Amino acid sequence: SCGICVEKCPFDAIEIINLPQELDENPTHRYGANSFALYGLPAPQEGRVTGILGPNGIGKTTAVHILADEITPNLGRFDDEPDWEAVLEAYRGTALQGYLDDLVDGDMTVARKPQYVDRIPESFDGKTRELLDGVDERGVADELVERLEIEAVIDQPIDTLSGGELQRVALAATLVRDADFYFLDEITPYLDIGQRVTAARLIQELSEDDRSMLVVEHDLAVLDLLADALHVAYGEPGVFGVVTPPKSTKSGINEYLKGYLENENMRIRPEAIEFEEHAPRTESFGETLVEYPDLTKSYGDGEFTLDVEGGQIQNNEVLGIVGPNGIGKSTFAKLLAGRLDPDSGSFDADLDISYKPQYVEIDQPMRVDAFLRSITDDFGSSYWNTEIAQPLQLDRIMEQDLTDLSGGERQRVAIAACLSKEADIYLLDEPSAHLDVEQRVLATRAIRRYTETHDKTAMVIDHDIYMIDLLADRLQVFEGTPAEHGRAGSPVGMREGMNTFLSNLDVTFRRDERTGRPRINKPGSQKDREQKKQGEYYYAP
Ligand code: ADP
Ligand code: ADP
Repeated sequence: SCGICVEKCPFDAIEIINLPQELDENPTHRYGANSFALYGLPAPQEGRVTGILGPNGIGKTTAVHILADEITPNLGRFDDEPDWEAVLEAYRGTALQGYLDDLVDGDMTVARKPQYVDRIPESFDGKTRELLDGVDERGVADELVERLEIEAVIDQPIDTLSGGELQRVALAATLVRDADFYFLDEITPYLDIGQRVTAARLIQELSEDDRSMLVVEHDLAVLDLLADALHVAYGEPGVFGVVTPPKSTKSGINEYLKGYLENENMRIRPEAIEFEEHAPRTESFGETLVEYPDLTKSYGDGEFTLDVEGGQIQNNEVLGIVGPNGIGKSTFAKLLAGRLDPDSGSFDADLDISYKPQYVEIDQPMRVDAFLRSITDDFGSSYWNTEIAQPLQLDRIMEQDLTDLSGGERQRVAIAACLSKEADIYLLDEPSAHLDVEQRVLATRAIRRYTETHDKTAMVIDHDIYMIDLLADRLQVFEGTPAEHGRAGSPVGMREGMNTFLSNLDVTFRRDERTGRPRINKPGSQKDREQKKQGEYYYAP
């Protein structure tokens, strides 16, 4: 309990109790009477990567329209013709003054990567190479194609690319432009950790060329690695948003996780988000749900081979699954579900698996409530509302059509649909994609609660290491060479699993001294070398 609720804590406590109040000052921009208002603005800096951390619907895109001179902010006076002079006056002496001076002088060019890469094929008809050649103003497309590992799809039509491939092509298509200001709206969805780190490095390198980079990102480990300074955005999504002045990345993330912004004296959440500093003891869970022997499976003429080390999965556990893309994680799931037969090793699967795929495709012309009602008879029951609808924030989208949902909304509906089915195993592939940090935490709780109260098993594939830390009881690690050969280890405890996984990536985490939050070590730093010597990559003593 957070200490505020007297009875049981409803998951939506955040919204009920702690709605921050709209500020008692003029906004930067208000769309109209009783419309969304934005307070403050992020301040991009030449030669730096500036991050924004905050929920969806809080005005980040509005801010970028302003920083790209597509909206002249009206300072809340939407009856008058807006003019930049008044805005310059309002921001004189702030971190934003230099940027706005350049913007108004008219010499600011902007490149941006959209949030929802899945929609790129709707606006571009052609092959990857044609897309990149058309925007390669800096003449670096070949280099980025190599570093982002796009070669394999360079001659493929854009509408045949997977989400992870589109994400990397979209990153390349933005970073090859010759702009002063780059805006990247989420860089991590569908990318594995190695690819996330590569994307972060590329953005940092470009900033060093005296360019201003502004990044919205919900994977906190990556944001921490990437950003030189951070704005926290808070408010009431759809109603108003406040962008704080820049903070150091470290204190911005710490304050956000604590739920309290120090300079602003603003509580944005009743309780802190906390991480396990020490690996949880491997407790005994319920009974064994399934025990499987060593298995192998290959596709085609052995183009891809998967070796599975035998193991067991328990009732009542959340099993985290980690490893690069293209390593056989979904193939393993299909073997468990009996949808694929192994080539060797006999395994008589009779388990019902409820599966949420990585790329959510729920595009029927149907309302959200009708869709969910068609999945479960429990729809609308008080139990279903408390355990599923509330934590996944479905109330305000129930009456919308599936086709009109944003990526984050679609993700929440897909998680709800997966958990609402009757099954032995709930398998969720990248539930974090397009969810903001609050939504990731709420989804984590919903999945954990569901397995605990129903004595069920969840298997969750995700690349957000904070989410895996908050979610998983044990880990299954996949390793090998993507698209060629994968090896699935048996499920092990968190410490052993994190060590195996992170040693493959050659990445260690230290703990923030104030909050215990895991932070990626600089390669070759003293901590990095010490921890590698001890073999402690994540839960360092
Ligand atoms: P974010 O990028 O943080 O998700 P946006 O800046 O896109 O947020 O949107 C913030 C709010 O502003 C949303 O509620 C949106 O509906 C509203 N909004 C965006 N554009 C307009 C507009 N042209 N007129 C009125 N409201 C708008
Ligand atoms: P992951 O879930 O780890 O991303 P997958 O199990 O989906 O990996 O795929 C592993 C490899 O097998 C990939 O190279 C993929 O292209 C290939 N693959 C997956 N399904 C098939 C199939 N039905 N036929 C041929 N190759 C496949």
